[in-house]
Amino acid sequence: MPAFQTSPGMRDILPPESERWRRFTDIFADTVERAGYGELISPLLEDLGVFTRIGDATDVVTKEMYDFIDKGDRHIALRPEVTASVCRSFAQHRPTTPWKVFYSGPNFRYERPQRGRYRQFEQVGIEVLGVDDPLLDVEVIALAWEFYARLGLRQVNLIINSLGEPDDRARYVEALRAHFDQAGSALSEQSRSTLIRNPLRVLDSKREPDQRFIESAPQIADFHSPEAAEHFESVCAGMSALHIPFEVEPKLVRGLDYYRRTIFEFQGETLNSAQNALGGGGRYDGLVEALGGPSTPGIGFALGVDRTLLACDDEGVFGPEPTELDAFVVDVTGGLHATEITADLRGAGLAADRGYDNRSMKAQMKLANRSGAQFAVIIGDDEVSAGTAVVKPLRTDDEQITIARSDLIAHFSQDTTTGTDSS
Ligand code: AMP
Repeated sequence: MPAFQTSPGMRDILPPESERWRRFTDIFADTVERAGYGELISPLLEDLGVFTRIGDATDVVTKEMYDFIDKGDRHIALRPEVTASVCRSFAQHRPTTPWKVFYSGPNFRYERPQRGRYRQFEQVGIEVLGVDDPLLDVEVIALAWEFYARLGLRQVNLIINSLGEPDDRARYVEALRAHFDQAGSALSEQSRSTLIRNPLRVLDSKREPDQRFIESAPQIADFHSPEAAEHFESVCAGMSALHIPFEVEPKLVRGLDYYRRTIFEFQGETLNSAQNALGGGGRYDGLVEALGGPSTPGIGFALGVDRTLLACDDEGVFGPEPTELDAFVVDVTGGLHATEITADLRGAGLAADRGYDNRSMKAQMKLANRSGAQFAVIIGDDEVSAGTAVVKPLRTDDEQITIARSDLIAHFSQDTTTGTDSS
């Protein structure tokens, strides 16, 4: 056992797995950039207050934050999510609206680690500030949907709900509190404690004793003001116009205090129900204001990279695709020729690797075969005196050929563009 290992809930992502993490982010960026979103790169650390503004009714803020006092006596925290940082950034820089941004990167939550739940986990997401139009909600949800489709994921369910206007939500929360209060000690102990802090969150409980009270709980739709109902109808109509399948789930609440109106979640059918949320988001109000900016409507989502990749594994899609080497250069004359040849090949846009330490022909050929390269380029004393190189196919039974060293780049460029084997 080595002296040090990753701390619980933290992981190294090694190649080739790391390749698809980067591709994941690239595809996400491409999807949203084509819809007018620009990348916001914000710090991983913020003043603790940025995150406590999210609300004190959520575990993310109350229990799971990595916070500490820095050397300048500031109370700071590693970000547990990115929406608060985006709103802080908006309040600080006051860009023109609509402000459409995307982000990607790690977040930190001190949770109990398990499959699909880590203490450092990666998210990609978008936020739009300054637009109230329900058709923006449709765009936001549709972009996540398009992204899942580009990954090749099929078994994703979209559920949506509306929390109404802040007043509707407040009346609903009180009705829920009264409803669950009646259940008294029949409610699970955890839910009784959740009830004190945030009655909405009791609806999330998966615990058996709570289920019948959740079934009979009042429904948010009955508390929607006409404006909220109309906004939600427009969202649903927009989703239908785009032929995106969804289900209205009246019990979907997503706990953060600042959510209002549209909220949504993407669930992976193949995942265990406790960790099946691939991503989610919604509209929020008041967060920019709470962070010192003007009153500004906002909407966004965050998608978990780790969990989405687990879903990809389950569906057998979006696997790692390590870069394939065109050539592996085997030089048994000391290595300087390999230095020149790999530099030339890479300069011509080809993928090339080589052996080091002037190892034997046998040892370098073993490396060449293991590298997965299409061809070995072999340089021995005879080739050096004749100004040639041997090109040996590694993936086919074709014969090796000897070509002039000066033709090597042209040979490979032609070979990779036409896709023909040299023989
Ligand atoms: P949230 O910010 O809690 O709405 O989470 C959005 C998405 O991030 C979730 O749907 C998950 O895919 C992912 N996520 C949240 N917390 C974790 C975690 N501890 N480990 C892995 N993924 C997470």
